[in-house]
Amino acid sequence: MSKPVIWTVDDDPDVLRAVERDLRRRYGDRYKVISADSGISALEATKQLKLRNEPVALFLVDQRMPRMSGVEFLEKAIELYPDAKRALLTAYADTDAAIRAINNVQIDYYLMKPWDPPEERLYGVVDDLLDDWQASYHPVFQGVRVVGHQWSPQSTEIRDFFGRNFVPHQWLNIETDETAKQLLTTTGAPVSSLPVVVFPDGSFLGNPSTGEVAHKLGLKTKAEFPFYDLVVVGAGPAGLAAAVYGAADGLHTLLIEREAPGGQAGRSSRIENYLGFPTGLSGGDLARRAVIQARRFGAEMLAPQEVKGVRVEGPTRVLTLADGSEVGCRALLITTGIAFRKLDVPGLDRLSGAGIYYYAPMSEAFSYRDGNIFIVGGANSAGQAAMYFSKFARQVTMLVRGSSLSDSMSQYLEKQIAATKNIEVRLNSSVIAVEGADRCETLTIRNNKTGATEIASASALLIYAGAVPRTDWLAGVVERDAQGYLISGQHLMLDGKRPTGWSADRDPFYLETSVPGIFVAGDVRHRSAKGVTSGVGEGAMAVKLVHQYLGLL
Ligand SMILES: Cc1cc2nc3c(=O)[nH]c(=O)nc-3n(C[C@H](O)[C@H](O)[C@H](O)COP(=O)(O)OP(=O)(O)OC[C@H]3O[C@@H](n4cnc5c(N)ncnc54)[C@H](O)[C@@H]3O)c2cc1C
Repeated sequence: MSKPVIWTVDDDPDVLRAVERDLRRRYGDRYKVISADSGISALEATKQLKLRNEPVALFLVDQRMPRMSGVEFLEKAIELYPDAKRALLTAYADTDAAIRAINNVQIDYYLMKPWDPPEERLYGVVDDLLDDWQASYHPVFQGVRVVGHQWSPQSTEIRDFFGRNFVPHQWLNIETDETAKQLLTTTGAPVSSLPVVVFPDGSFLGNPSTGEVAHKLGLKTKAEFPFYDLVVVGAGPAGLAAAVYGAADGLHTLLIEREAPGGQAGRSSRIENYLGFPTGLSGGDLARRAVIQARRFGAEMLAPQEVKGVRVEGPTRVLTLADGSEVGCRALLITTGIAFRKLDVPGLDRLSGAGIYYYAPMSEAFSYRDGNIFIVGGANSAGQAAMYFSKFARQVTMLVRGSSLSDSMSQYLEKQIAATKNIEVRLNSSVIAVEGADRCETLTIRNNKTGATEIASASALLIYAGAVPRTDWLAGVVERDAQGYLISGQHLMLDGKRPTGWSADRDPFYLETSVPGIFVAGDVRHRSAKGVTSGVGEGAMAVKLVHQYLGLL
């Protein structure tokens, strides 16, 4: 937490040195005393303070300065810091100027020079001013700030990225928040460059990619070593578990994640069926704890960084990353899970991120308090979202294609939904169109049984329409089923025969793919049980099989 600032501005170097010295002696332990020899340079520095979100408690400014007078400086400075106290240093001859200052910039005090001894003529006044300021001061947020439009997909993406990568940040809505407007003016960035991300060091980026933001924040995207015992691709529950157990078992382990740790589970508001957490825990919490645990055991993690390809060179598996770099390993574990399925509905792509979300970030919930929210899907993920958003929204309506929830949802969740007054479940229902000028406003809903359609006004549409594996980067390397899931173990054996090209003198291990030393765990595996617990279990089991494999080499 940085100390609040006391500004002293005077063009006379002797006076400036003296006032700075006196202020530091008395207030230096609680305040940062800074000085400038002109109003112009002080104004520039004040803008930088504003960008870094450092608080200013007091301006103590000489009136008679060339080019910019004390009052002229204060007129501009208080636009940036309206709550800061203002005192003017004047000679007797400047009394008129001081009176004008009281009228023009609501000066709190004017101090006559010289003020010696300071104990009598300076500190009493400054003490009073600082006490007043402290009484109404609320400590400011000092992390990353995002200024943007509520309904912009880019703003949503950046906020989601920060949230899921555990980066503390403050969201400032340009349409409703005066601080947001002021901060944007201070950066000098045009409105067309929103969202603008302002970093704690005062620098900022207009409409940045998540990669640029990650680089700026120093998130780790490059591997420290060219070669590892084990590389795990994908940091969902399966990959995180493998990183924890791999590193704990002494394997030099690297975990690579395309977006943010947690995977699908990171979007879950409350996982209630995970062993050891009787009241449930959020996917974000699970991911955060697992990342700490993996790091504590010495696992290295890159995020955001995507794996684009893999090749086999004798006993080494070589991965190509999105930035073109390569990393080699003795054993590779693929835990890339599944990615959401897109709906093909007119209007949906255009408004995506503007009231329409696939697997909505939980951070969006607050924006829809008292809203009318529709949720597409009837599985557990949709049910959890309904429960979570019902705490904020006026009404939540679940649109379920099938004729029953029980076919796709756990019983405990179905019961919770039935007992929640502001959730309505509409069976046999599909969204066939979405409309709105610049955000979701209305949906056309069709009853699949009767064919009847209806237009409903909607603040948001959240889509949980299932997911598919994205394993194209592995095509031609390991065997995949028709949907793209990776085949492993006994499923590779056809009529007792090992897969084509299989080079080891044994059958594939349970979680081993058609290439020895390349393993798979979690949702991306052909015929996996799916879910957090199974993912974690398979991740742990894969590490044991990696040990067996390495022992065989
Ligand atoms: C909203 C929601 C709620 C859920 N609630 C529950 C619940 O209560 N209980 C339960 O048991 N299950 C729940 N699930 C399902 C559960 O989250 C998944 O089964 C589980 O996360 C699967 O884990 P995984 O590690 O196999 O894959 P994922 O969680 O899908 O993680 C895969 C990771 O790999 C990354 N990745 C993909 N490709 C690459 C690449 N090429 N390079 C680098 N990284 C890559 C992805 O970005 C992702 O982070 C829920 C799912 C959702 C979406």
